[in-house]
Amino acid sequence: MFFAPSSALAWWGRPASAPPEMGRRIAVRVGDDSAVNLELPPLSPADALRLQRESTFAASCMALESDLEAGDGTFDQALSNALAAVVASEWPGEEHDRKGRVRSAAQLLDVIEERIPPVGGVCVIPEPEEDRVRGEAHHAMFGDGPYEPWDVRIDAAVLRDGIARTQAVRHARGPGGLERRHVDALFALDEHRSLRCLDSERGDRHWAGAREEDRRSQALALAVLEQIGDEEAARRSANVNQYEGYHPKHSPEGYDFQECPVCGYETLQVTAIDDYGVGIGRGRCIVCTYERNGTVVDDLASAWMFENRWADD
Ligand SMILES: [Zn+2]
Repeated sequence: MFFAPSSALAWWGRPASAPPEMGRRIAVRVGDDSAVNLELPPLSPADALRLQRESTFAASCMALESDLEAGDGTFDQALSNALAAVVASEWPGEEHDRKGRVRSAAQLLDVIEERIPPVGGVCVIPEPEEDRVRGEAHHAMFGDGPYEPWDVRIDAAVLRDGIARTQAVRHARGPGGLERRHVDALFALDEHRSLRCLDSERGDRHWAGAREEDRRSQALALAVLEQIGDEEAARRSANVNQYEGYHPKHSPEGYDFQECPVCGYETLQVTAIDDYGVGIGRGRCIVCTYERNGTVVDDLASAWMFENRWADD
């Protein structure tokens, strides 16, 4: 059994797009700088297109999530790609018109509404039978309460209104203006099995932010070391005992100090350890001020697990 936490193996489920005729070689991040190269079979053109739609949808949604005014084109782009993915998955071929062109978002909504008549403006694609049976069995073992099927709600009325508003801006017919409900209806499409990519996209971005924070902290710590000099660094490390043991704020659990990856002294004051229980500490160095955050700690721990346990399986 191979289990891969998304922070360490961020490619999981969404490999980088590459020309389908080429074999894909993907560097999987493990820990700080090390990587494992995996050779993957070539993508079929259909899979390459599906992944391209998925990643365009995910990137556009992230832009809208941080800024509702990210641009009307962003909404249209996300919606067109999501609906094309949904229709291609449910009714293969129907995403194209008679001339073989990919239908517009409004036309794709027509296709969906023809097959699933909307109720109150909403088309509900039920969870496929085989998925539901599997989901119910899993829920019976591990879940609480009644099983909730993974149905997909396509709020065609709100999405059409979103399209009308973005078109109004594009064709100089008025101010347009997307509202939260338009973006919510767009994000709801992620429930469809052809997408389901927003969580991993958020995870990747969170990981990248934590890495950047770590790089800044390391740079600051190096500047501090430069400024205080070797003598002062040694003096601080010699005084480590005054910090040791329980401290209500800094070390409520009373963890031992760990080696700081920046200054090399055993002066990283640990406030918590990684979620996997490997024992890698998050905290701040009392000599150089380097601070190791929780995401980096969990990443190092999962890399350790990968190298020492999973790799043997
Ligand atoms: Zn340090």
